[in-house]
Amino acid sequence: MFLPVYDVTPFTLLDFPGKTACIIWFSGCNMRCGYCHNPQIVRGKGTRSIESIFGFLKRRAGLLDGVVLSGGEATLYTGIVDFADEIKRMGFSVKLDTNGSRPKVIQTLLAHGSLDYVALDYKSPLQATRRVTGVGCSGEIDTTLRLLMGQSKAGFEIRTTVHTGILQEADIAEIIRDLEKRGYGGKYYIQNFISDDDRPTLGRLPPQPRPLDLRQLPRTDQFEILFRNF
Ligand code: SF4
Repeated sequence: MFLPVYDVTPFTLLDFPGKTACIIWFSGCNMRCGYCHNPQIVRGKGTRSIESIFGFLKRRAGLLDGVVLSGGEATLYTGIVDFADEIKRMGFSVKLDTNGSRPKVIQTLLAHGSLDYVALDYKSPLQATRRVTGVGCSGEIDTTLRLLMGQSKAGFEIRTTVHTGILQEADIAEIIRDLEKRGYGGKYYIQNFISDDDRPTLGRLPPQPRPLDLRQLPRTDQFEILFRNF
């Protein structure tokens, strides 16, 4: 039986804070972000058997600290809860990268104690979710944010990818103000869109017209704002 897994990155030091990890890339996504540089994963199908994935993980048990469930959107896989439970039973820490559109799945994973860390994409000011993602699931993202902030089982971070063709300084300022209002106290990553190669993005966006002007962003003492790829 095939899992909706597009690929596996066998080793990373960068994607699970403080841990050595592998990344499981789930194919399929319910969003259509214009800047997405993984259209082949978003539109892809599963290519890996359950046996090959668990065979790989068994060989890495005791050698890697953790497993990152990424994609695409891993929470779309109907077997994700059992999958994450099993990985935890094997002794790995589990990190979920998510677009926040499936709060009930995340709630179940948290209730099972199957998540150690979550990276939530806060894609845009909530009223502009459709502009950036092509879908209107701001209510779900809001629910996921509340859910993560109301629990202590898993650490989490919030992040926004910026392509100035579709997000500007005022949008990021609005997100910062919203996180302040919610009482957020964790880390907020602002990630500059970069393209590693000339492959077209999912929305075939042209290169960024300009970099984000970081000087225009508001400051806050309430949480840490970090910048990636600037
Ligand atoms: S960037 Fe958007 S479309 Fe691409 S995988 Fe993430 S949520 Fe899906």
